[in-house]
Amino acid sequence: MQVTSKADARSAGLKRYFTGKPCKHGHSAERWVSTGICCDCDRMFAAKYKEKSAARRKAYAAEYHVNNREKILGRSRQWRDDNPERVKELNQKQYWKNAEANRAAASAWRRANPERKAEANRKWAQENPEKNRDSQRKHYARNIEKQRERSRLNHAARRQEEKEYSRLYSKKFPERKRASEGKRRAQKRGCGGGSYTPQDIREIINLQDNRCAYCRVKLRGFNFHIDHIKPLARGGSNDRRNLQVTCARCNISKGAKDPLEYAKFIGKLI
Ligand SMILES: [Zn+2]
Ligand SMILES: [Zn+2]
Repeated sequence: MQVTSKADARSAGLKRYFTGKPCKHGHSAERWVSTGICCDCDRMFAAKYKEKSAARRKAYAAEYHVNNREKILGRSRQWRDDNPERVKELNQKQYWKNAEANRAAASAWRRANPERKAEANRKWAQENPEKNRDSQRKHYARNIEKQRERSRLNHAARRQEEKEYSRLYSKKFPERKRASEGKRRAQKRGCGGGSYTPQDIREIINLQDNRCAYCRVKLRGFNFHIDHIKPLARGGSNDRRNLQVTCARCNISKGAKDPLEYAKFIGKLI
């Protein structure tokens, strides 16, 4: 930096000059021609002043706000009335800045003030009949979709549960499962009539000493068929008196044959 005197700088029309000597605070900096003060000192003083005066300015502003509340509110109301588009824009900007928090706060307020929310809704609906109809339509459509989805899910979950339950159930109580299957089959064919209970099947199995009615093979666990002595297909009833238990092979081999014919067929009757 060029070393000049204040007088030379002033006559040259400069605002600052440099003496080459440090100021009393040790800055090796230019000085203002107008005051002779070191530029670094000047900046330092300004910053210190700003810092010191900040609290005072804040206090003053607060006091002013309290004393001129009506005036300020009136001005800001006036501005909002004059600039509705800007207000909308600013509100939106503000909202999106904290969208997540705002949504949470709004929903918390709605939960805490259900009556006031309902009142506000009514008022809005009265003032905006067109929009209200539109929003109701949309809400309805959205809900229908949601409900359908919910019922689809519930249905699927229930089916899954039922399947699982029935699997466990039939494992634990094979005769019950067979009883209900038999009833369903009989109903499907729409013939015979009559019904039986799982208890009936247990008793029949006991009476047959746990053996197939035809080949006398030992029946174990789930491994038995409920046989209609006179087949349902031939008008036999689904009543306990028309039932016996057999092994799978005999049951299948008998099929819908007449019991007497079948007995002859396997050589039990002559
Ligand atoms: Zn200085
Ligand atoms: Zn058998």
